Amino acid sequence: MNLILLGPPGAGKGTQAAMIVDKYQIPHISTGDIFRKNISEGTALGIKAKEYMDRGELVPNSLVIEIATDRLGEDDCKDGFLLDGFPRTVEQAVALDAYLRETDRKIDYVLDIDVDKELLVERIIGRRVCADCGASFHVTNMPPKEEGVCDRCQGQLKQRNDDNAETANNRIEVYNKQTKPLLDYYDKLGNIVHLDGSKNLNDLFKEIVEVLE
Ligand code: ADP
Ligand code: ZN
Repeated sequence: MNLILLGPPGAGKGTQAAMIVDKYQIPHISTGDIFRKNISEGTALGIKAKEYMDRGELVPNSLVIEIATDRLGEDDCKDGFLLDGFPRTVEQAVALDAYLRETDRKIDYVLDIDVDKELLVERIIGRRVCADCGASFHVTNMPPKEEGVCDRCQGQLKQRNDDNAETANNRIEVYNKQTKPLLDYYDKLGNIVHLDGSKNLNDLFKEIVEVLE
């Protein structure tokens, strides 16, 4: 099953992604995670990407497309994958389609998780992420059992560099301008499902499973 998760920052894509890949045993491909890993390792790619990410802007298409398609070329993606945070522009979507066509694959579903703006900022600012395994928590909506400690691996919980009010607002604006046009693009292709991300996360996951089965 080849899936794309779409939605504004803070919609809960990462949380749903973790549940989906666990159930369907497909790789979770998050371009944001790939960039953050490169930043923490100090690679040339990480240094370039950081500049954009810290401002809440998109990393240029030329960089992102190559990274995403390289990843999709790896063996573990042959029987399915979940893309989270890619594509984010129409240019990226067109490049992805061309790449998948070349390798005889296609997207089965685009899952679009939508949430009102007020809720987004609150979710982004309260988000805490495990430095070791990447699991995501929220200080009030989904607190860890012990403050600052990951339930899954006991790693340390941190706030992402771009999870502050100012950058969050910019990321939402960038989403509205550059990523929202993708909804039309996939509506025309007919494989997009619109989901209400203000629901509680287990109900939303149930709905996703119903779509996929
Ligand atoms: P969120 O969806 O919560 O904003 P992500 O981890 O998906 O978080 O993305 C964080 C940042 O990484 C984005 O604000 C952007 O700068 C960069 N990024 C991730 N994916 C892409 C992409 N497909 N195109 C351009 N930039 C990207
Ligand atoms: Zn962890």
